[in-house]
Amino acid sequence: MIDLRSDTVTRPTPNMRAAMAQARVGDDVYGEDPTVNALESRAAHLLGKEAALFVPTGVMANQLCIRVHTRPGDEVIAEKTAHVIRYEGGSASALSQVQVCCLEGDRGLLAAKSVVEAIRPHDIHYPPTTLVCLEQTHNVGGGAVYPLSTMQEITRVAGDRGLASHLDGARLFNAVVASGVSAAAFAQPFDTVSFCLSKGLGAPVGSVIVSTHDRVARLRRLRKMFGGGMRQAGILAAAGLYALDHHITRMQEDHDNAKHFALQLQQIPAVYVDPDLVETNIVLFEVVGSDRSTGEIVQVLKDVGVLLNAVGEHRFRAVTHLDVSSADIEQATHRIGKVLGV
Ligand SMILES: *Cc1c(COP(=O)(O)O)cnc(C)c1O
Repeated sequence: MIDLRSDTVTRPTPNMRAAMAQARVGDDVYGEDPTVNALESRAAHLLGKEAALFVPTGVMANQLCIRVHTRPGDEVIAEKTAHVIRYEGGSASALSQVQVCCLEGDRGLLAAKSVVEAIRPHDIHYPPTTLVCLEQTHNVGGGAVYPLSTMQEITRVAGDRGLASHLDGARLFNAVVASGVSAAAFAQPFDTVSFCLSKGLGAPVGSVIVSTHDRVARLRRLRKMFGGGMRQAGILAAAGLYALDHHITRMQEDHDNAKHFALQLQQIPAVYVDPDLVETNIVLFEVVGSDRSTGEIVQVLKDVGVLLNAVGEHRFRAVTHLDVSSADIEQATHRIGKVLGV
């Protein structure tokens, strides 16, 4: 099976498992897990912030940050296809009692002008706008990379008007590898940044939030409240540390594979894809003029050993990762071409 559904499907490598097995552990709720502490200080250092917090999932990371920056009745600005709105089960409204102002971006990326226009004036009629959330890379935007200058501009206009800023950096390191901009430079303009260890970095579980000492102390308390205080979590943190040591620069292979996949797909007459839009490890493509529904196409591809997701009418998403080789990509495009009749 060639599994291109998501970069979350990776399994820990033998060396990562060895690092997990050997991890020194303690009770992290008491702050006594040396491996969690090492991961947190490593992540804080890497992103140029004072402190960090290890959390079970990226959703929890985002929702803790929304909670820490807002009060009930506040409004949060985000792009309408952002993960925090689309894929987090309505938790911003359920857990933080905020409403979200959804803006339309270009491949998920907002412009400073539209953010400024969305900030409400001080008036009792309006909800106070207190937070802007950006996403790097943008998932639904096909792995699009926010240019650093755009992020700096948005966070500056937001900060000038008293808003906090959060970066959902689930795939931050894909952006780092694709752009050559450091993780610390991307993180610098934000009050909080989260990133996933469990995506392209290849760890089985976990995300990290970075921020100031004070805010991380508040987030630590909220993490307990949200049910995310873990005990001997060093076993998981060891995988994260291993990933930060060994799996960042190799993401270039995933990006090369994604680009190659798009270029190969482009040769199939029934496929529409723009390889120029493939900046990182996500490929969005459309199948045109087929009698089959997207669901049927997903099924026939599964029958020939290629897994990918339908993400809309005629639209598919393929994601490259640690467990997909360049030979797998050759095989996958060959099989897709056969199924779609070339
Ligand atoms: C995957 C993802 C998350 C977090 O997902 P979890 O499965 O909860 O770790 C957050 N934001 C984006 C953009 C993602 O792709």
